[in-house]
Parts: sequence; structure tokens; C-alpha cells
Amino acid sequence: MKFVYNNFECRVDNPSQCPHCHNGIEPRHISQNIEQGINYSVWKCTFRECGKQFIAVHQVIGQGQAKFVGFLDGQPIGPYWPETIKKLKSKFIETYNQSLKAEYSGLDEIAGMGFRKAIEYLVKDYLIQRDSSLEGKIEDKLLASVIGENFSTPQEADLKDLLQRATWLGNDMTHYLRYHDNFDINDLKELIQLVMDEIHSIEQKRHYIANIQSKYKK
Ligand SMILES: [Zn+2]
Repeated sequence: MKFVYNNFECRVDNPSQCPHCHNGIEPRHISQNIEQGINYSVWKCTFRECGKQFIAVHQVIGQGQAKFVGFLDGQPIGPYWPETIKKLKSKFIETYNQSLKAEYSGLDEIAGMGFRKAIEYLVKDYLIQRDSSLEGKIEDKLLASVIGENFSTPQEADLKDLLQRATWLGNDMTHYLRYHDNFDINDLKELIQLVMDEIHSIEQKRHYIANIQSKYKK
């Protein structure tokens, strides 16, 4: 695609991925408009089941030069949700997805806080699902204490370590002071993925160990 700004022609790559369905595509160019050094171009996804329109934004950064800024619509690709997490009655996934959208829109400060809140839903709702006697007892407790007082079996040692680290990074993104400067929001997301995988693994192991009995004579 090309456009002219201040008599200089800018050439940029056409979008190669749809921000709605995330398929690799050669989208159809519908129209474009440039205003104050920002070019807005409208495209239509050519993937048959999608076919949605989207707007790509390019910013002029020099004479005849422009860079891709982002899309005005669509949504980011979510993480892989293990079955155990999908079945959990919790606002975790919804909160995570909202945080992801905030990050996608450039609201990284808000996104970090959202991911921290998502971890809290995940931990508390998972514990209550496992042991309903905890209901009414842990919801208003500090997340760090809840993690510290639970997950005490050897099988849960890794989960506890991961959760503590995810919470530390999450707190950094929520509070005024930062203590872990070398880690960012991508590390936090990576930790949350590890936590989800760990919970799923623990639950699957429990399920199979409890439900498959030996048929061999003793
Ligand atoms: Zn599409």
C-alpha cells in the first residue's frame, strides 16, 4: 500500500494477518485516509468464515517513511486454556481476556493490574472448588496469605512457587513501587500460563490415580 504525505510517497506492507480471526491473509484494500501524519486504511479479511473489515494505522516517521502502529479493532490471541481452567466457575478467564485487550490497546498499566486480579480469581475459585469449606473464609484474605496457607502438599510445591512469583510480578504492576525491574508483563503472562498448566496437571493426575483401580490379584 502507498500513500502521500507532504508530497512524499510512503510505501508500507499490506497487513498479512486479520486482527479478528488471526488467519494469514491477503486482505482486500477498501479505502484510506491520512490525517496529521497518521494513515488509516480500511481492509476486508478474505478468509471465508470471517470476512470482517478492519482498520490498520500507520504513522509517518520521516520523509517517505511510515511505521505500522496497530489495528483499531479485532482482538489479541488468547492463551491456551487447559480443560480444568475452562471448567472452573470463575471470573478468571473473563478478567484475563479484558486485561489482554487493555494490553492490545496500549493500556499496559491497566493490563498489569488486571492480570494480577485474574490470578486472585484463579487461586481463590480453584481452592473453593476443591474444598467448599473454604467458601466465605478466603475471599477477603490477602492473596499472598491464601497462597502461603494452602498448596502445602509436595505435589503442589511447584504450583506454590509459581503462584508466589506471579503474585510478586502482579503486585509490581499494581503498586507504586516496582521491585522486579527485569521482568515485564510478558513474563507475568508466561507465569500465568505455567500456573494454569500446573493446576491442570495436578487435577488430571489426581483424577487418574483415584479412579483407575488395580485389577491384578494381590
Ligand atoms: Zn479474518
